[in-house]
Amino acid sequence: MRIDGVSRLVGLVGYPIEHTLSPMIHNAAFDSLRLNWVYVPLRVHPGSLGPALEGLRWLDFSGVNVTIPHKVETVRFMDDLREEARILEAVNTVVKEGRDLIGYNTDVRGFTDFTFKRGIGLASVSALLIGAGGAARAVALALARGGASKIAIANRTPGRAEVLRSMLKGATGHSEISVEEFDESGLRVIRECDLVINCTPLAVEDAEEIPIHYDDFGDGQWAVDLNYSRRRTAFLEEACKRGASGANGEDMLLFQAAASFRLWTGMEPPLDDMREVFIETIKGDR
Ligand code: NAP
Repeated sequence: MRIDGVSRLVGLVGYPIEHTLSPMIHNAAFDSLRLNWVYVPLRVHPGSLGPALEGLRWLDFSGVNVTIPHKVETVRFMDDLREEARILEAVNTVVKEGRDLIGYNTDVRGFTDFTFKRGIGLASVSALLIGAGGAARAVALALARGGASKIAIANRTPGRAEVLRSMLKGATGHSEISVEEFDESGLRVIRECDLVINCTPLAVEDAEEIPIHYDDFGDGQWAVDLNYSRRRTAFLEEACKRGASGANGEDMLLFQAAASFRLWTGMEPPLDDMREVFIETIKGDR
C-alpha cells in the first residue's frame, strides 16, 4: 500500500477498536483493486463523538464505519439518514457528500446477502431471534422485509424485545411478531422455527449459556450465530449435532463491509480477497 498526497481516506470510529478486522478487510480490497484509498482506525472515546464527527466534515475523509459504542449516538450528528439507519436508529456507515454527513446502516444488507448466498429463503420463513440488541434489530428488519411469516424474539431484558417488536411493526406493518420468555419454556418455540439466530455474544464456548433444549433442533432447520470469532460456536455445534444446518457471522460481516465499500467507492468490492484476509487474520484465534 502506498499512501501519498492524493490518497482517499476512510476509517472506523469506535472504542475500543484494537480487535477490529475492518482495516485489514478494506485495505485488502483497496490493494486488490489498486485503488489509492486507505482505511484507518479512529479511536474515539465515549463523550468525544460529536467533535470527532464534526472534524470529519473538514478533514478529507470520504466516510467512516461506526462501531461500538457509537452506533446509536451517531444518529444525532448526521445531516441526513438513509432508510435503514432511520428505522433502526443506528448508523454503522457514514458517507460524506460535500460537507454533509449521511448515515447508513449496512447490517441489514449484510444479513440479507448472507442468507441469499447460503440459500436460506426468507420468504415465509418462521424465525426466532435470541437477543434484541443492535445486531438483532438489523436482522429483524431484514427478516420482515424478506417476507418472514413469523418472527419470535427472546431477550434477557423483555422490555428491549418489546421495543424491537414495536419498531418492526411500525416500520414494516408486520403483525406476526411475538416476544418469548428468555428461559427454557420460552425458547421451546425453536421447535416451530425454520431459522434460529443467536444475536447475543453468548454460547461461544459454553452452549448452556443460552437456556435452550438443544434437542428441539432437527433436520431442515438453520441455526445462525452472528458471532464470527469461531467457525463453529458451541451454540452451532449443538444445533448441528441434531441435524440443523449452521452458519456463523462471517458472511454477514463481509457483506456489510462490502456494502460500505460500494457506498464510498461506487465500485464492486473484491469479496474473495476480503474473505481471504479475514480468514488469515482470524485463524490464530480459532
Ligand atoms: P448489543 O447491542 O450489545 O446486544 C447484545 C444482546 O445480547 C442483547 O440482546 C443482550 O441482552 C444480550 N446479552 C448480552 N449479554 C447477555 C447475557 N449475559 N445474558 C443474556 N443476554 C445477554 O450487541 P450487538 O451489537 O447486537 O452484538 C451481538 C452479537 O452479534 C455479538 O456477538 C456481535 O459480535 C455480533 N455481531 C455480528 C455482526 C456480524 O456482522 N456478523 C454484526 C454485529 C454484531 P439485554 O438486552 O438483556 O442486555
